[in-house]
Amino acid sequence: MTKKINIAIDGPAGAGKSTVAKILAEHLELLYIDTGSMYRALTWKALQQSYDFENKTLISELSSKVVIKLYSNNKNYKVYIDGEDVTSEIRQPEVSQHVSLVAQIPKVRENMVRQQQCIAADGGVIMDGRDIGTNVLPAACAKFFITASIEERALRRQRDLKENGYIISVDKLKEDIAERDFIDENREVDPLIPAKDAAIIDTTGLTIEQVVEKMKNYVIENCK
Ligand code: C5P
Repeated sequence: MTKKINIAIDGPAGAGKSTVAKILAEHLELLYIDTGSMYRALTWKALQQSYDFENKTLISELSSKVVIKLYSNNKNYKVYIDGEDVTSEIRQPEVSQHVSLVAQIPKVRENMVRQQQCIAADGGVIMDGRDIGTNVLPAACAKFFITASIEERALRRQRDLKENGYIISVDKLKEDIAERDFIDENREVDPLIPAKDAAIIDTTGLTIEQVVEKMKNYVIENCK
C-alpha cells in the first residue's frame, strides 16, 4: 500500500469514527488525525478564558492566535494548545457542550481547515471529522460516512466517559448528541453531510472488526 493516499472519515458525534480510524491507520500505516480535537482544544481555551460564546469576533481572533499541535503515532495521540497538553481536558463534557458553537464560526473553520490541509499535503493521512470528504480532502481516494443509531451512539459515549470518570445518563447524552448533530448539520459553512462519493456505513449492531474490514476492502478497491 502506498503511503501517499489520504482517507476521509466523517459522521455524527459518537458514531465510532475515531476508534475505527485509529485501527485502520495502524493497518495501512497512515497518520491518524482527529480534526475534532482541534476544535475541542480551541473551545477548551475559550472556556478557560471565560469567553462569551456569542462573541464570534473574539473567538475568531482567538483561533488566529493559538498554536494547536497534534502528535500522533497511532498508539498515542496528544493535543497541545499554546504548549499545554490538553489531551484529556478536551474530552470534558463542558467542552463537548460548547464545541459546535465554536466550530460553526466561519473564521475558526478557515483557520482549522488550513492547518488540516497542510498536515495532509504530502498524503499518508487518515483524517476524521465532519467536513473532511466534502471540504478538507475532497480528493481523498476513500471517503467514509460512519453513522449509528442515536441510542447506540449515546451508549458508546457513556462507556467512553465512564472510563474517564464521568457518569452521565444515556438520556442526557442523547439530548447532547442530538443538539450537537443539529448544529453541525445546519451550520452555514461546511455542514455535516456525506460527500457525494462517500461510502456510508451504518455501524449499528456491527463489531469494530466488521467495520474495519469493510473499510479496508473499500480502500483496497478504491485507492489503487
Ligand atoms: O469529532 P468530535 O466529536 O470530537 O468533534 C467535536 C466537534 O467539533 C463536532 O461536534 C463539530 O462541531 C466540530 N468539528 C467540525 N469539523 C470537523 C471536526 C469536528 O465542525 N472536521
